[in-house]
Amino acid sequence: MKDISQLKEEFLKELKKAKKAEERRKICKKYIEEELSSVFCSIKNLAGEKRTKIGKEANELRRFILEQQKKEKEKRKEGEGWIDVTLPGNDPEMGTIHPLTQLQRRCVDIFSRMGFLAVEGPEMENEWYNFDALNFKEDHPVREMQDTLFVKQKNRESLPAKDKLLMRTQTSPVQVRYMEKRKPPFRIIVPGRVFRNEATDSSHEINFYQLEGLMVGENISVANFKAIINFFFQELFYDDIDFRLRPSFFPFTEPSFEVDISCSICAKKGCSVCKNTGWIEVMGAGMVHPNVLESAKVDSAKFNGFAFGVGLDRFAMIEHKIDDIRLFYGGDLRFLKQF
Ligand SMILES: [Zn+2]
Repeated sequence: MKDISQLKEEFLKELKKAKKAEERRKICKKYIEEELSSVFCSIKNLAGEKRTKIGKEANELRRFILEQQKKEKEKRKEGEGWIDVTLPGNDPEMGTIHPLTQLQRRCVDIFSRMGFLAVEGPEMENEWYNFDALNFKEDHPVREMQDTLFVKQKNRESLPAKDKLLMRTQTSPVQVRYMEKRKPPFRIIVPGRVFRNEATDSSHEINFYQLEGLMVGENISVANFKAIINFFFQELFYDDIDFRLRPSFFPFTEPSFEVDISCSICAKKGCSVCKNTGWIEVMGAGMVHPNVLESAKVDSAKFNGFAFGVGLDRFAMIEHKIDDIRLFYGGDLRFLKQF
């Protein structure tokens, strides 16, 4: 059996002679797997003190060789980290902001300048906020399966309206959520995604973006509403755009109106976009129904206000002359890179 100190000397000598890292690694491996393991094998034949002494020395040498091996490995890692700075780099591709997000940001900016605060709410709502609090009667057709995406729940029918979940069909529930926790006056806008149970075609999607506005205070009138949206349209379209109010019906407003803007493509002369009327319908609005204010714990005898909602997808389609709403959600880069 070889003397341990002699073995160590031989190891160091061989290591010194080796010029390549590969050789040095092989030497370490050889000493651990061959030389030392044969020492460990023969130790068991020794007796008493000698066995303890040689065992201890052999273990020390093993640790020493393992350390050398570790150093060699570290050197190799450093070598691998070497970068060739002369190689051409990877060109990072720049993305663009989605046209709907761009439009949403512009709208939020315009309303912020008029003192409106942008607030958000949950996309998965309950029936109470989405329908009951907004004065939708129990038998309103929008509550039917074909219009709303309901969330499957066990024993759904026996649950109270506040526990029955659905994908919100409008951003209006956020009005109630906001009002019930605060005291008027309010001036808010609610941008967000809404969901409908639709068969998709070029002008219908199962989800789209709305921007909702609400202003509540003392003695608010339709004149205030007209002033606010007049500023909004002028800023948004950078243009002299006409608009008009037409009577309409929504459960959550009384009186209610549809808002049309003049067709910028044909200058009110009539074209396919405006269906030869010269006007394009872009907004639903009205004075907030007293029942909605009461649902949100606002005193309807003292306060009143207006609310409106626009479909951002529709605005973006008019602005960019896009003829199919599905392009917004298709993820086609050829489409998205144009914005
Ligand atoms: Zn037109």
